[in-house]
Amino acid sequence: MKKIIYLSMAIHPEDVTVEVIKRLRDDALGHVRSLTPKMRLVTKADDPLAVEVDIDTNPKDRFRFYNAYAGKVDQHRYRIRIGAGLLLQFDVFAQAMVADETVLKGMRSARFLTDAARALGKARLLHDFFFHFMVSAVFWHELAHIVLGHLDWLGAQGSEQALFELPMAASHEDVRGASQSLEYDADRQASKWLLAVVDLALSNNPSLRYAEDADRFYDFGFLIGFIFRALDALESKIPDCKRVHPDNNVRTLASLHYLDTYFDQYRSSRKVEYRIACLEGAKAALQSVLHDQIRLPDQAEIILNCARADMTIETLGVRAHQLKLVNDKTTFSVGKILE
Ligand SMILES: [Zn+2]
Repeated sequence: MKKIIYLSMAIHPEDVTVEVIKRLRDDALGHVRSLTPKMRLVTKADDPLAVEVDIDTNPKDRFRFYNAYAGKVDQHRYRIRIGAGLLLQFDVFAQAMVADETVLKGMRSARFLTDAARALGKARLLHDFFFHFMVSAVFWHELAHIVLGHLDWLGAQGSEQALFELPMAASHEDVRGASQSLEYDADRQASKWLLAVVDLALSNNPSLRYAEDADRFYDFGFLIGFIFRALDALESKIPDCKRVHPDNNVRTLASLHYLDTYFDQYRSSRKVEYRIACLEGAKAALQSVLHDQIRLPDQAEIILNCARADMTIETLGVRAHQLKLVNDKTTFSVGKILE
């Protein structure tokens, strides 16, 4: 029987010091900066658009402190803001995962490549990798909302051009179908970006190497499942028909379903093996992290949900607002927002 991770979702107030918040903020921003050195957001007509990324460090505003947000500031400016409370949560999650050696394959089978890595220790290296994984998962998801034109589409409907990820409260009836479809759409794009970057980073990691490629895809699946299970604990229980975000077990499996095209394109020789490893990792997370007798949705249900969301996006005309990312010089400013 697999061990079960029990972890406290509670953040103890005495742990929330200015130093801790600053350290996590700088660590997260440094990681986002490493993802965006040549990333330029442009309109369909190639006009540059600014993207500001920052961390909300004010614990007094609990809603924003424990949240992640994508918004449109003005005609040429978008913003991604991640709450430091969410980073504190991610730090706790990463600590929990490396505390139990049976949970992730990397803890058992990854190898050190340098003396410096050996001195730091596998737990520390993997903790940092998992923390950065969660930060980038959120970053890519928020960026997907922007690039896929979700904020501009909301603006065209006369709605506020802002999307908050937490808490996942019940939505108004008129935007419900649209909200869930926007989340599927963002998860679809974000999971591909995330896998592409993680796959590349782990293939070229100078400190740590997974002995088996399948093991890192298992861990990738586990981390995706873990994030959604953890998010589940942060939201109120509401019936699916009233949710802004899809059910978290569905979101996990849908995110992996969307990766099929990545495996087809970039990992075609062993795609079935990697896909299975990913799915096994995700299922292990869904069944062991904060488990509550969940029934996992079957594949047909996932495919149907994803197809319905795609159809809604088409019907609503969201694609007309889509923007482009190009890879030359950056229009991202990370951690330098001037109010
Ligand atoms: Zn979202």
